[in-house]
Amino acid sequence: MPDLDAIRAHLLRQTDELATRVDVIESHLRGVDRDAPNDWKDRAQFLENDEVLEALEDHDRAELLQIRAALGRLDAGTYGSCASCGGDIAKRRLEALPIATKCIACAA
Ligand SMILES: [Zn+2]
Repeated sequence: MPDLDAIRAHLLRQTDELATRVDVIESHLRGVDRDAPNDWKDRAQFLENDEVLEALEDHDRAELLQIRAALGRLDAGTYGSCASCGGDIAKRRLEALPIATKCIACAA
């Protein structure tokens, strides 16, 4: 059985980090005092950066959902059970990927 307290602490830390990053990206992207540069080349670069930030934000939000789901499973006492076969997910797999929902055989 993996160390659930350590996993919970790790997931909570990750939640904080991701939530902070999403906030920073969000306020940057939707900032009211934000003006696009007039120069066309600067503007192209500017918009490209926004796309990168939006992709990053989407990725972070998706990861946050997975982490919150994992925390929910910890609370419900179902953490570490494979969602497909109901078997135990290997400790090493959970340590490497704490948000894993399936055992390695079902995930393959
Ligand atoms: Zn399985």
